[in-house]
This record gives sequence, C-alpha cells and structure tokens, in this order.
Amino acid sequence: MYSIKEIRQIIGAQGPIIRECNISGLITDSRQVLNASEGLFFALKGRRDGHEFIKEAYNAGVRSFVVAHEPAERMTGANFLTVDNVLNALHILAAHHRQQFNLQVIGITGSNGKTIIKEWLYQLMANEYSIVRNPKSYNSQVGVPLSVWQITKENDLGIFEAGISTSGEMDALEAMIKPQIGIFTHLGSAHDEGFENRRAKVIEKLKLFKHADLLIYNYDQMREYEKDIVTPKRFTWSQKSKDVDLYVFSETVIAKKFYLRAKYKGKEIECLIPFLDAASVENAVYCWATMLAMGYSPQQCDDRLEHLTAVSMRLELKTGVNDCTIIDDSYNSDINSLEIALNFLNQQNQHQTKTLILSDIYQSGLQQEVLYKQVADMVKDKKIDKFIGVGEAIFAHEEYFDVLKKHFYPHTQALLKDLNNLEFSSETILIKGARSFEFERISKALSQKAHETLMEINLTAMVNNLNFYRSKLYPGVKVMVMVKAFSYGSGTFEIANVLQYAKVDYLAVAYIDEGVALRESGIKLPIMVLNPEPAAFDKMVEHKLEPELYSFNMLDEFVKFAYQQNINEYPVHLKIDTGMHRLGFEDYEIETLCDFLEEVKHIRVKSVFSHLVASDAPEHDAFTLQQMKRYEKAYLKIENALGYKFIRHISNTSAIIRWPMAQYDMVRLGIGLYGVDAAVPGHMNGLQPIASLKTNISQIKKLPAGETIGYSRLGKLNKDGKIATVRIGYADGYLRAFGNGVGKMLVKGVLVPTVGNIAMDMCMIDVSDVECKEGDEVIVFNDKQGIDILAKQIGTIPYEILTNISQRVKRVYFYE
Ligand SMILES: *Cc1c(COP(=O)(O)O)cnc(C)c1O
Repeated sequence: MYSIKEIRQIIGAQGPIIRECNISGLITDSRQVLNASEGLFFALKGRRDGHEFIKEAYNAGVRSFVVAHEPAERMTGANFLTVDNVLNALHILAAHHRQQFNLQVIGITGSNGKTIIKEWLYQLMANEYSIVRNPKSYNSQVGVPLSVWQITKENDLGIFEAGISTSGEMDALEAMIKPQIGIFTHLGSAHDEGFENRRAKVIEKLKLFKHADLLIYNYDQMREYEKDIVTPKRFTWSQKSKDVDLYVFSETVIAKKFYLRAKYKGKEIECLIPFLDAASVENAVYCWATMLAMGYSPQQCDDRLEHLTAVSMRLELKTGVNDCTIIDDSYNSDINSLEIALNFLNQQNQHQTKTLILSDIYQSGLQQEVLYKQVADMVKDKKIDKFIGVGEAIFAHEEYFDVLKKHFYPHTQALLKDLNNLEFSSETILIKGARSFEFERISKALSQKAHETLMEINLTAMVNNLNFYRSKLYPGVKVMVMVKAFSYGSGTFEIANVLQYAKVDYLAVAYIDEGVALRESGIKLPIMVLNPEPAAFDKMVEHKLEPELYSFNMLDEFVKFAYQQNINEYPVHLKIDTGMHRLGFEDYEIETLCDFLEEVKHIRVKSVFSHLVASDAPEHDAFTLQQMKRYEKAYLKIENALGYKFIRHISNTSAIIRWPMAQYDMVRLGIGLYGVDAAVPGHMNGLQPIASLKTNISQIKKLPAGETIGYSRLGKLNKDGKIATVRIGYADGYLRAFGNGVGKMLVKGVLVPTVGNIAMDMCMIDVSDVECKEGDEVIVFNDKQGIDILAKQIGTIPYEILTNISQRVKRVYFYE
C-alpha cells in the first residue's frame, strides 16, 4: 500500500494532491473497477485512448488518476497526476514495487509454453513456497506491471512470464520482473514478423535475463545463440546432445504416461509425465530441468511431475438447465483469476441474477481472515446476487459475506445433493473452484446435456479480430458489426455481450425478431434492422430498433405508422442501391426521395449507406469505384436536402482492408469478425478463425475390400480397411455435397476423407490409416482446416458453411 503522495514522487508526476488516500489497486480498464476508493487509474493509450474513459472510472468511484493531460471536464475531489508517458509511469511504479522485496523470482520467456510452464511450476513448488505469478497469461506491457503489483511480503517466490511482439519491449519488462532465474521456453515462429530476423528476436528476449544468475534452456534450440547469452550460470537440457546438464535419452509410453529417462550429474534419473502430446512433454521437461536446477532431488521431481494436471486458461460459457447460463471456470481458484472471471460474469446481460459458486482458495499466501475478507469484498463489489461457498475454510468465514442469498457447504458432494433445492432459474452462474473440489461435476449437473457434436467459439480470438479491423480504421471511424443470421451461425447474446463490452458502435440484424431477442438479452447498443417487416413495426419501435428504409413503399409504410403512433424523429437508415440491385433507392429516385425527406418530420436519418457487391475482387475494382461514386453523389444530395449530417457507410469486411478511402464515418464488419476474409490471404496478420466444429466416433468397422458403405452403395473400399461412423450429418449442416470423399475430417491430426453418402445424422469416414477408437474426437473444421477450405471443397462460400450449422449443434464459448 502506498500513499498517493508517495506514488506521485515515485513516478515523478506533476499536479496537486486534492485528496489524501492510500492506493492498493491499479486500474487500466474503466469497466473493471474494484475497490474504487483505493484504486489508481492509468489512462493508457491502447486502441482507444484511456483518457476517454476517465469519466467512466470517476463515476465508478475512482478518485486518483495518472494522465498525460487533465480532462477538460472538471471532476471534483479527484487527484490527477500528470506525466509525459502514462505507460512508462505504470512501469516505473511496478519496478519500484518489485524493488521493495527480495524474493526469489523466476522469469519466463520464449515463443510457446510460457503460461503452461508457469502454471506447472506453481503446481510443482507450491508446497515449499508462497508463490506470486501472473494471472492467466497477463504477460504484456500492461499485464506484467499488474502482475508484479501483486507481490506481497508473504511471497518468497515469484514466477512471471514476459511476452513481447516487437523489438525494444523487453527492457521495461526486465526492470519490473528482475528475475534471478530465467527460463527460455520453446523457440518458434510466433511474432517473427515483429523482428528483423530470428536472431534479433532471440536477443531481445534474452534481455529478460541480463541480470539473472541462472538460465535454463534447451540446448538444441539455442545452441546457435549461445554466444548471445550473458547469464553466468546455465542449465541446459537436450534430447540429442549428451554434453548438457539434463540429457533426456529415452522416452517410452507406459500406461498413458510418458516415461522419460535422463542422465543428470552422471547418474541415470527418470520421471513419468501424465501427458502424451509432444508440446506437453517438452514443457514438462523444462519444469523438470528447473526443479533440478533449483535443488529439488530427482526423487522429488519424479513424485511431483507424475501428478501434474492439465492447465486450462479457458473460461467456458454454456447453456444451462432452466434457462441459465453457465460460466465454467472449474480448473482453479485464486483471487486474481476470480477477479477476471467475475468481470466476465458482469459482461453477461441476459439474466438479472448473477450467481457465484466458489470453493476454498488454496495457497494464496494470505491469512485466511484476510483472504476471505478480500473475497467477500470482491463479491460485494461485483454485485453478486447469490453466493454459494463450498469448503470448510470458506464456510468458516460465512459471516463475511454480505450477499442477499447465500448458502455454504462443507464439500462438493453436499452441494450436489442439495442442488435441486437451490432452484436455479434464469440466472448466470459462475462456477469456480480449486481442482480438488471437482467442480466439473457441478458444471455437468447444471449444463444442458449436449449432443456430442459441438461448435466451439473462441471469444478471445473474436475480440482479436475486431481489434485487427479496428487497427485498420482512420481515427473516429465507427464500427457496426453484422450479427444477422445468429451472428453468422455463431450465437446471439453470447456474441453481442462481447461486442457491447468491447464498445462497438452499432449492431445490425436482418429481421426484427433477431433484434428483439438481443434487446431481451440486455443489449443496449443501437441496432439497425436490414429488412424490417411492416407487420412488426410496433415491436421494432417498442424495442428501439432502427429500420433500414430502402424503397418508397417502405418509407411510406413507416411514415404512416409513425404518424399514427405519433412518433417524431424516429432514427432510420436509408439504403442506396449503387449496383447490387437487391434493396435500395435507385439513382433516378434520389431527387424524389430528397423532396420527400424535406417534408417529413416523423423520421430522423441516422445514416445513409450502400453495399458493395465485390469489394474483395480485384477484377471488379472498376465497378467498386463506380459504386462509390454513385454513393457519393446520392448522399451529397440527401445531405443537402436534409440540412444535417448523418453517418455514411459502404464498406463491408473486405472493403475495410482493400478500400481504406471508403471508410467514411463507419464500416460494417461481417465475416471478418468470425475470422474469414478473402482480402486477408492465409489468415495473416493476426486474423484468427474463431469457430471449430467437433464431433466424435460412434463406431468403427473393419471391412474387406469391395464392401459398400452407406445409402445407395456409393461408398466403396478399394482395399481392406477401417470405417468410422461419426455423429454429424446433413441435419447438422454437414451437407450431402461433402459425401463420397469430397469432404475431409481430422482424426488424431490426420486428414481423412468421407466415404459414401452423408446421412441425416451421421456419416462415415475412412480411418484405415489412423490409430483411433470409438469415442475419439473428430474435427470437421478448426483453425488448421478452416471453413474456407470446406467452402472450396463443395464450391460455396464460407458464409454458407457457417450459417448452415444447425441449432441442434450446441455452441460452447470460451475465453483464453
Ligand atoms: C452482411 C452484410 C455486410 C457484411 O458483409 P461481410 O462481407 O460479411 O463483411 C455488410 N453490409 C450489409 C448490408 C450486409 O447485409
């Protein structure tokens, strides 16, 4: 805890202290304010300028700010500490905080595996140490200072990861982390584009260890950079060279575990790793090496590595029983990740009631009274309506929790037995527990039974895609996101909540009932309806949905309706047809339209827009230019007639990249949000597919050559082989066109063709060359085999593939 005066001095800020106070928390996001009166808000320049959000933070109760310039608006009783560079100030404060403690610190960087290794070292060493570490993968220029700020005098070990994407970033992170022990994890291609070459990247990353005493790394990956390493002591491991500290010479699989043998200090040692995939094994070896380097005995290593558990940074959003929404974060429970999960809970608008099911928190390094007081304060701050505590420790601190409805249970079984009495209904339930509480059982009991074919939607990737397009926009250009047709098959409120939280400017749906559904889920953003039906105008107005008016007929209908209902200045959007010839006013109609608009008072034109027919296609660029010219002529005339400004927009996804001069006042982002864009070849530059469709194997049959497979005997094996029946068919949206080898699926990483016709609920694939068994996962599409590939296979476009996935296929959303 620092006084605001001390902080002003530490960061060398200007500005008077209006109000003496102590600061305990750093805030970088005005939507995530906790313990406001002791918070210090940093107005960082991210994609949006943090100064824009000062008022929001002030309204949430924050009274201390670090800014580059004071806001124009007066805010009484607030401290504004002025600095040249706000991010720098945050770094200086975190580095100062770090210097107050002489705990041991492990610093981790590299291309892959940082978070897993950090979490595993935590699992492996929590017996001996009180450990502080980054929440999730908070390893950036903002994440690291927030992580380091968590250090308290109780901690005797810090484990911090540092991630960089371009040169010049590591020095600041090093100053905050100051590790004595370093781990350089797997070196790969991630972020290569941010550096001159691979060596430049390695040298930048190595800066994290410039003051460290000891560096742990893989010799084979790093040998060509060894002369760039300045750390005096090294601990190397290898699977190829004997001349290292830990030489892993043998790996075999025994009973679903990886059995590793190695040479260490001239002796043979061994361990079992409960994972089989190569990346996990490699990450575990880094942990093994680190434990040995830190003085753990080979026996201790073996005992503990065998009990490593999977690390999932995922927070899943699922459909629950009785119209509930379930947020499943049942893998761990510490106070930092609790805060992150509660923020996610608060993004959800679809239900009034917010419920938290929380287990005891282990290994916090805090006294129980302090810990549960903090938890209780957080629960109160985040406005939880219903609290369910599970575990002896949390139970013992029952009286701290000031919540309307609260229930406590000594263990998970007791809660499970009582589940029906809790009468969950239409609420959003966050389930968060330490692994040993097995909260996945609660999650299972409260989730709707899912048909085993699932579409997983990565919300983190979706936000990244949004930010990718935002980074291509001129300052001030607004974003409308097209969430028509169930957000291109991806979801309704699940997607809209994220977009609302990310502060997009507008949403657009195709029909009125889609908009009504969003309103009923608590979405407050302005919503345009592309094709409103006059019969539902009353519902549209009741839910503040804004119609697209595209013809005189439509205009007449709506104005008549508005007149009857005595509505004035209702926001509407005018569509100009510049070449699509679908909906919209034609060139020759604009004059008449203008005359009409000059007269009517019932509507207010919010925007005038048009739609490009081939913004992605170079061969139609001349036509695209012509569309823009027509559009410009039309909106100028309308602007003249109306005498006021409106939002102008014509760009869809591909135009954002290809036609920057056509951004006008707003763009309409569609398919790109979902990770597909013909104008962005090969998923380059940070565009990520967000959806994967997974199913599994119901049965496997060994068949001799010549047997036919499926309806109409169209499938045939040319040689003896093995056929797997999987749980997806054309009723799920896997179209018949994919049959007879046209479509391919991934089984154990191997691409295999369909055999025979696709049936309604199932289809068959040829797994002759794949080791697999019944129940194994089968991937229809994911980030490796994208929907663009599927679209090509059957001669359609990705849009159709996505929107065809039927509602029977359960959607599961997750944050990483
Ligand atoms: C669907 C739609 C978009 C989005 O198009 P994408 O190619 O998916 O970006 C934009 N504008 C209108 C009018 C649309 O109907």
